[in-house]
Amino acid sequence: VAELERQTRDLSSSLEKERQRARLDVVTGVPNRAAFEERIAEELERWRRFKTPVSMLIWDIDRFKKVNDTYGHRAGDRVLREVANCFAGRLRASDFVARIGGEEFCTLLVGAEAEAALRVANELREAVSNLKLLFHGTPVRITVSCGLTTLRDTDTGDSTKIFDRADAALYRAKDGGRNLCIAA
Ligand code: GH3
Ligand code: MG
Ligand code: MG
Repeated sequence: VAELERQTRDLSSSLEKERQRARLDVVTGVPNRAAFEERIAEELERWRRFKTPVSMLIWDIDRFKKVNDTYGHRAGDRVLREVANCFAGRLRASDFVARIGGEEFCTLLVGAEAEAALRVANELREAVSNLKLLFHGTPVRITVSCGLTTLRDTDTGDSTKIFDRADAALYRAKDGGRNLCIAA
């Protein structure tokens, strides 16, 4: 019986490890889209019950196609990792970052109202633009654009509304010349 119990324990701990791995993006090591969907659903629920403010920041790397075209896909992957690490290293333990698409990331700032969120967004944006990256000996400057918004009373149901609002602001940041954070 003891042996069986041990085996069951090992099995459930390796299942849990698998489950965790399935929620991580293989290129950058940060949580992936599935993990993001799970987390935003939890935050929406928390917000409904306790009104904990949450700000959502959607990021898109500027002119990323040019990095791939000029320096190759592997250089592009390195940029993705550098940007992910830059975000992950600066966020608080209660915050969250995920790679939600090709060169798009989403950060959730838990407890941050609109004003604080914009301040943090601009700090993260500047941190990325200050990364010192060398490709084939050439320094390359990477910038990101951000659309952000904060949960509102009208954000009932799923995360579609808040996501679309942040995404629309991201488009304005791109239109506005990139390397910008725009709040909706
Ligand atoms: P913008 O400033 O408007 O965002 O321009 P952009 O070039 O970043 O945007 P666009 O959507 O034209 O290009 C995104 C590029 O991202 C194209 C695609 O090859 C690249 N990409 C997507 N996923 C990956 C990936 O996993 N690795 C690498 N290296 N590149 C990727
Ligand atoms: Mg994009
Ligand atoms: Mg882009």
